[in-house]
Amino acid sequence: MKKNIKNVELEDLQNIMVSLNQPAYRTEQIRQAIFKFKRTSFAQISNLPKNLKDYLEEQFEITSLQIKTVRKSLDGSIKFLFSLEDGNLIESVYMPWYDDTSESIERETLCISSMSGCSVGCEFCATGKLGFKRNLQVSEILEQIFLVEQHLNTKLTNIVFMGMGEPLLNYNNVVQAIEILTDPNYELFSRKKITLSTAGVANKIKQLATTNRPVKLAISLHFTTNILRNQIMPINLSSPLEDLMDAVEIYYKSTKMPITYEYILFAGLNDTDEDVKRLVKIARRVPSRVNIIPFNDISFIRQTNLSKDLKIATKEQIKNFSDKLKENGIVSITRDSFGSDIEAACGQLTLSETKMSVKIKPIN
Ligand code: SF4
Repeated sequence: MKKNIKNVELEDLQNIMVSLNQPAYRTEQIRQAIFKFKRTSFAQISNLPKNLKDYLEEQFEITSLQIKTVRKSLDGSIKFLFSLEDGNLIESVYMPWYDDTSESIERETLCISSMSGCSVGCEFCATGKLGFKRNLQVSEILEQIFLVEQHLNTKLTNIVFMGMGEPLLNYNNVVQAIEILTDPNYELFSRKKITLSTAGVANKIKQLATTNRPVKLAISLHFTTNILRNQIMPINLSSPLEDLMDAVEIYYKSTKMPITYEYILFAGLNDTDEDVKRLVKIARRVPSRVNIIPFNDISFIRQTNLSKDLKIATKEQIKNFSDKLKENGIVSITRDSFGSDIEAACGQLTLSETKMSVKIKPIN
């Protein structure tokens, strides 16, 4: 199988050019053709000599991801299911955000995956129930963006690492992909238009703060006590809340970018006045905002005793909780759930297309 050229690191490509007696500028010509101009075959790169194009064609491929299924929701969001070369599946979701005063789209966000499946296993997440297949390569991270732009004939404005997988547990490939996406030479995205959402890997958050162009950070917090996080988000066992909050503070001090806390409200579980108090304390530690997210029902998969206890909060409960945060001076935004008619829960489309390791209830 040919290696995808997007996975060849800069230094390695430079060495290949040296070994072929090519001038040093060839490396950047190739990278610009692929990342900036999104060429999909070496034959399309007109400023390379023919013998070099032939060599690259023999040794490398440019695209390895394939769109398998596209589902369009009535709300305008579009879910893409991609197949990887080894047959594993991943998902991305395109979300258009409309201007309040007009019908025009003001930003176009793609939520992308960093793993096939996920190794973390949060109780509320369909992807977690898939188990871990593998980490995505740099090429597979980038091609979700490139293929969606090509398919929709659009230019995305924002990227969120909030699809399948915990991005900070695929650290090297995710950071390499971010380096390319934010490289001024390729004119793709400013680092402020990219958000990395993590369930909370404290040591990697600190490491991310030291990269060349750190991006916006979102923490999938959801619970404000170690007891509940340990039970429902097992990553908390190795990164307890105290360590996570220390890492967030370091990240903010280093990047000066406000933090987003994602908070899925579960009725009767994390919606008490005590939760409000603890969340206010957390949110005040550095400049931040809280996104309250409705729970995507995952009753289509086999339930554990824990996941059976996760109940969808009503709109009124969500509003009450959000109002209490606002009364305490916390910026709180209630997020709509995109694509409820197209199997929107992260991992849901993959589950229904594979029907593999997890028993699926029929969806009416
Ligand atoms: S919520 Fe994120 S980290 Fe948790 S299982 Fe799902 S994909 Fe993995």
